Amino acid sequence: MFKAFLIKYAEIGVKGKNRYLFEDALVQQIKYAMKRCEGEFKVWKTQGRIYVEALTEFDYEEAVENLKTVFGISGICPMIYVADEGFEKLCGDLKDYMQKVYIDRMAQGESMTFKVMARRARKDYPLNSMEIDMEVGGVLLDAFPQLKVDVHKPDVYLNIEIRERIFIYSETIPGPGGMPVGTNGKAMLLLSGGIDSPVAGYMISKRGVKIDAVYFHAPPYTSERAKQKVVDLARKVSRYSGPIYLHVINFTDIQLYIYEKCPHDELTIIMRRYMMKIAEEIAKENECLGLITGESIGQVASQTMHSLAATNEVCTLPVYRPCIGMDKQEIVAVSEKIDTYETSIQPFEDCCTIFVAKHPVTKPNLKVIKKHEENLTEKIDELVKTALKTDEVIVVKAE
Ligand code: ATP
Ligand code: MG
Repeated sequence: MFKAFLIKYAEIGVKGKNRYLFEDALVQQIKYAMKRCEGEFKVWKTQGRIYVEALTEFDYEEAVENLKTVFGISGICPMIYVADEGFEKLCGDLKDYMQKVYIDRMAQGESMTFKVMARRARKDYPLNSMEIDMEVGGVLLDAFPQLKVDVHKPDVYLNIEIRERIFIYSETIPGPGGMPVGTNGKAMLLLSGGIDSPVAGYMISKRGVKIDAVYFHAPPYTSERAKQKVVDLARKVSRYSGPIYLHVINFTDIQLYIYEKCPHDELTIIMRRYMMKIAEEIAKENECLGLITGESIGQVASQTMHSLAATNEVCTLPVYRPCIGMDKQEIVAVSEKIDTYETSIQPFEDCCTIFVAKHPVTKPNLKVIKKHEENLTEKIDELVKTALKTDEVIVVKAE
């Protein structure tokens, strides 16, 4: 029965000029999300409100599901609208609405409290909002013995917005919260095929940050399917974050060179330092203001405090690690919610699992690491340059 949605958003920090940026970004992200739905939709804003209206037949569940991926939305209110054909007709429409949305679903003997909330966006309507509240309240009380008025803490707020047409809504479905993507700069996500990094990308993009991503692959040690898995993960994240430019970098020669020249127990740390360095170069070329990883303290040897300090040391951009204090189960819970989990656990090798030492250092000494990195002096700069040239950019959009 619903034909449109009123979009609620938290207005904290949305004063003055920021408000337009926030609302425009939100409208754009809503359009992006609605493109994935059957049917045609119009998204518009007026007087501090955003509406999504179906212009054709559409699937209600699908529309709600997709609106729930738009950061910045705090609530989704399914609406109906009717033409303004006089107050009596409106009262009839409201009775219909209450009947369908509530009364038909109520059990025998059940009761419900409500409050009418009318708003006039045009002042030429013959009744003012208080009069509408009173009159409509009376009509509904007469029609349905199950209903009672409670002006302080009603079960249901029945909203009536008088515009060119009249909008009626009363339900609010929770949105994902956060800030609209595009209101807070851009960052580069180090995206592996694992569980954590897609979650990290989702969490940072929730704060309004646009995301690019980089994946280091190591053919032939890692397969095409491992790469496809990363593309699939980026696609899942892009439901929330908007389109992602995924940079695929061939890391094989660097990895082999480190393997040849450095102690194997330090391999992971040194490799990770080079990943960060390269990611930072690509980030800077693409106006990213930070890096994002899925690291979590103590998860593996390369993520102890010592290891993180050693990895971090090569970066000049801030590194955001939103999973840093989360347990694996907590990260898994988010990955299930955003539907990346099933993809993440597919068993394709990523480049880190091939070259892992049996006993990697857990307390790397930065001085020692740097000393051993000197073994790489001869070729590493050239290899990094070559790796950067292999950059294959895949534009990933949610379907
Ligand atoms: P995830 O952390 O996503 O579950 P993982 O556990 O295999 O994957 P780690 O080896 O723990 O990854 O690496 C920690 C972080 O380093 C990842 O969260 C990711 O941000 C980054 N990273 C690791 N491997 C790669 C890679 N091949 N390409 C891009 N980034 C990577
Ligand atoms: Mg991990």
